[in-house]
Amino acid sequence: MCGIVAYTGPKKAYPILIKGLQRLEYRGYDSAGVALLNGDIRVYKRKGKVSELEDFAKDKNLSGSVGIGHTRWATHGKPDNINAHPHQSGDGNIVLVHNGIIENYAVLKEALSENGHTFKSETDTEVLVHLIEEIQNQYNNLPLEEVVRVALTKVIGAYAIVVIDKKDPDKIIAARRQSPLVIGIGEDEYYIASDATPIVEHTKHVVYLGDGEIASVEPKKELQIKTIDENETQIPAIQELDMKIEQLEKGGYDYFMLKEIHEQPKSIADCMRGRISAEDGWVLLGGVEEQAKKFAEAERIIIASCGTSWHAGLIAEYLIEDLARLPVEVEYASELRYRNPIITDKDIVLAISQSGETADTLAALQIAKEKGALIYGIVNAVGSSIARMTDAGSYIHAGPEIGVASTKAFTGQVTLLTLMALSLAKKRGTITDEYFQKLLVEIEKIPGKVEQVMKLNEQIEYIAGEIQHANNALYLGRGYNFPIALEGALKLKEISYIHAEGYPAAEMKHGPIALIDENMPVVVICTNKSAYEKIISNVQEVKARKGMVIAIVTEGDKEIKKIADYTIEIPDTEEPLTPLLSVIPLQLLSYHIAVMRECNVDQPRNLAKSVTVE
Ligand code: GLU
Repeated sequence: MCGIVAYTGPKKAYPILIKGLQRLEYRGYDSAGVALLNGDIRVYKRKGKVSELEDFAKDKNLSGSVGIGHTRWATHGKPDNINAHPHQSGDGNIVLVHNGIIENYAVLKEALSENGHTFKSETDTEVLVHLIEEIQNQYNNLPLEEVVRVALTKVIGAYAIVVIDKKDPDKIIAARRQSPLVIGIGEDEYYIASDATPIVEHTKHVVYLGDGEIASVEPKKELQIKTIDENETQIPAIQELDMKIEQLEKGGYDYFMLKEIHEQPKSIADCMRGRISAEDGWVLLGGVEEQAKKFAEAERIIIASCGTSWHAGLIAEYLIEDLARLPVEVEYASELRYRNPIITDKDIVLAISQSGETADTLAALQIAKEKGALIYGIVNAVGSSIARMTDAGSYIHAGPEIGVASTKAFTGQVTLLTLMALSLAKKRGTITDEYFQKLLVEIEKIPGKVEQVMKLNEQIEYIAGEIQHANNALYLGRGYNFPIALEGALKLKEISYIHAEGYPAAEMKHGPIALIDENMPVVVICTNKSAYEKIISNVQEVKARKGMVIAIVTEGDKEIKKIADYTIEIPDTEEPLTPLLSVIPLQLLSYHIAVMRECNVDQPRNLAKSVTVE
């Protein structure tokens, strides 16, 4: 959460900052601001989107080739012009933007106030810039990087910060703990950002700043990196970015979410590429092979994740237990980290995260690591913190996901977890050769079948029109499709603000059935073969209470058609693979409803992508 961008070099900083902030807007859109340095320091900030900042700044002095920018997702203090970043020191010379939470800000604020500092905002961030000023005043002539480093040793919490100082005009200091920062190295210039998206159009050479590191950049000078606590010099590991600009544009679609929904045939195929061959009868995940011994000895897999990734984890529980007969527990990372869990060196802890920066998931992994478990990352963002801290892992290769509501990252995660279940099943001898082969053949057909589901778009749009005014909705599914019911409900809540609940279909009788009346749309996923009769009964139960049933069924289904109000027919596949198809109509349904309700699909209120605060 919160997007940070900074530039120092020969070019004009402002256009680079604005474009960068637009790229990072998915991380937060409560306010946006920039600080430009050109002899003096000018700070422009505005509540709301980056476009509002642009409007505000258009007739101002935008000169300067050093600058920092921020798009905020508020944690401390309401979203307004004053709480917007950048924040300035009392003398106005030092300016800072911050992503994260300074947990001991209240204590620091009190001490600083006693020393005569006055604060303008309600944020935790402003305390940090005053602390830096205080240290600078205490130790005369200390270089800026050292002043910031010393200040950070007094801070408890999570942060990514960039700092500039009028007295040291070309330099930018960047530091991070638990929140990401990437440094782009151009010709005689440096870019800094929360992720690589603002950097890729300027340079492909990047350094992912390590956790607990502080960097100092100045044009024409080498990049300097040290550890914050030990003050030890680090050698920067320069990496080549593998990202294309087109991946960051809407490419003719109205919203990123719609583009990303439509990218799924490709992103699922990309996730499988080189990892499976039905023709030759193998499935292979590099990370699993690397840690083959640990996987062979593992007594349990624990999955730690949040939000949509947690739903992917639930599907993995069905897959891995069903196919590989290995016990799986799925945990909300935010609960796992605080509940004194039993984890041993016989466990494998899988972290699932699109951004690879989810604060709670990172913390849960840290605990698992301390307890001796093998930690394995399933992430999308290459070079992210989870990818770097885990013992092994697999990228889902979905490409940048910008819509706040996750779609292609989810199907990428489920695809990857299906491959993992198949690989483990084969190694553990828990699957027959015939069934293994059948699943390989079927999973290779999934991208084509997802393509077929996309053709139902118009029908789904029509159904969306029928239910767009609902205040509540219920999503039901069984077995492999129970997590899809949760995911469908989450998608609707996130982007259309309709209250929705996902439930295991049979659990409906234990509560939610009381809510059903003629105004309640009930989306039922009925593609299961194993519990088909049971799900028909559940649909009957809803109809008996006058609920409106929208059923996702397998092509050619006859029974449910007779009782449901609307049926959406998706291609047949093997049951463990149905989530990859059944989720698509639910993504489209929530998309169309949100558009009809005039909601901002890509930037739903109060939400942000990449949840780097706990
Ligand atoms: N805590 C800071 C604020 O509220 C930064 C928030 C964030 O990183 O999301 O302004």
